[in-house]
Amino acid sequence: MLHRMSTNILQDLEQMVPKEIIKVNEPLKKYTYTETGGIADFYISPKRYEDVQQVVKYAYEHDIPVTYLGNGSNIIIRDGGIRGIVLSLLELNHIQAADATIVAGSGAAIIDVSRKARDLSLTGLEFACGIPGSVGGAVYMNAGAYGGEIKDVIDYARVIDEKGDMLQLTHNELALDYRNSIIQSEHYVVLEAAFTLTPGKQEAIQEVMDDLTERRESKQPLEYPSCGSVFRRPPGHFAGKLIQDAELQGHRVGGVEVSKKHAGFMVNVDHGTATDYENLIKHVQQVVKEKFDVTLEREVRIIGEPLED
Ligand SMILES: Cc1cc2nc3c(=O)[nH]c(=O)nc-3n(C[C@H](O)[C@H](O)[C@H](O)COP(=O)(O)OP(=O)(O)OC[C@H]3O[C@@H](n4cnc5c(N)ncnc54)[C@H](O)[C@@H]3O)c2cc1C
Repeated sequence: MLHRMSTNILQDLEQMVPKEIIKVNEPLKKYTYTETGGIADFYISPKRYEDVQQVVKYAYEHDIPVTYLGNGSNIIIRDGGIRGIVLSLLELNHIQAADATIVAGSGAAIIDVSRKARDLSLTGLEFACGIPGSVGGAVYMNAGAYGGEIKDVIDYARVIDEKGDMLQLTHNELALDYRNSIIQSEHYVVLEAAFTLTPGKQEAIQEVMDDLTERRESKQPLEYPSCGSVFRRPPGHFAGKLIQDAELQGHRVGGVEVSKKHAGFMVNVDHGTATDYENLIKHVQQVVKEKFDVTLEREVRIIGEPLED
C-alpha cells in the first residue's frame, strides 16, 4: 500500500524539508557495521532539529512507520529493507562544552565525545573511547564498557516523542538500565545529550584510554564487519564463554561466522546477509540452550522486512 502512496509522500516530504536530505530506495547496507540490509523506502538525514520534528509529526499523522538510525553498530537490518521512513541522525553531530558539561548532538560519535572530554581534561567518558556508536544510539542502549556506562555520566537528553513533541528528560526520567532506557519503550528519538564530567588530569585520562584501546584491539575482531556483542550478558554467565564452551567458534552460516577471536561476536567474513546472521544467531541460541540450559537473549537489534520469495 505504501508503494502506491510513495509519490505523494515524496511530494509532501520535499515541501517539508530540504530536498537534498531525502533519498528514495536507499540501500542501507552502507550504513550498518554488519554490511547487511535491504533498501529504505525513504532515507532522510536532517541537519536541524526542526526537520526531525516535522518528519516525525508527519509520519505520525499519516501512520507511516519511522525508524531511527545512528551509526548502525548495534543493528541488523533484514535483507528486505525497511518500509516507510528511515531517519538518520548522523548529521546532528555538534559537540559543545561549557565548564565540566559536554552537550553533543545525537549523531556525534561517542568516541569523539570521549576524545573531546580528554582534550578538556575531563574524566568520566574514558570507557566510551572504543564504542563505535553515536550519542543517540549510546543513550538508547545505555552503552557501556569496562565498568562504565552512559548512566554514570549523562545529565539529560532532549528527545522527540512519537507525536513530534520535544521533551527534555532528566537522568532519572531516562530510566537507564543494563542496555536499556526509556527511549526504547517510548519510541523517542534522541536529539542531543548532555554529559556532566569531572575535572581530571589529561595524562591519566589518556593512559586509561590507551589501556582500554589495547584491551579491545587484542580481544575483539575489529578487522571484520560485526555488530559487537550479539547477546546480552545472561545472569551468572558470560555469553562468550558459553559459546566458546559449546565449541561454536568458527561455526559458519553462509558468509557469517562466530568469531574465532571473540566468541561473543559474529563476523561477516564473506558477503554474509542479514538472513545468515539471523540463522547463525538462532543456531547458537539453540545449541547453548541444549548444552547449558541457558537462554541467550539478543543485545543486537534486528529490524526490517525479510526478503520476499
Ligand atoms: C566492534 C564493536 C564494538 C562494540 N563495543 C561495544 C561496547 O563496548 N559497549 C556497548 O555498549 N556496545 C558496544 N557495541 C555496540 C554499539 O556500538 C552500541 O550499542 C552503540 O551504542 C550503538 O549506537 P549506534 O549509533 O551505532 O546505534 P544503531 O546501531 O544505529 O542503533 C541501535 C538502536 O538505537 C536506536 N537509535 C539510534 N540512534 C537513535 C536516536 N538518535 N534516537 C533514538 N533511537 C536511536 C536505533 O533505532 C536502534 O534500535 C559495539 C559494536 C561494535 C560493532
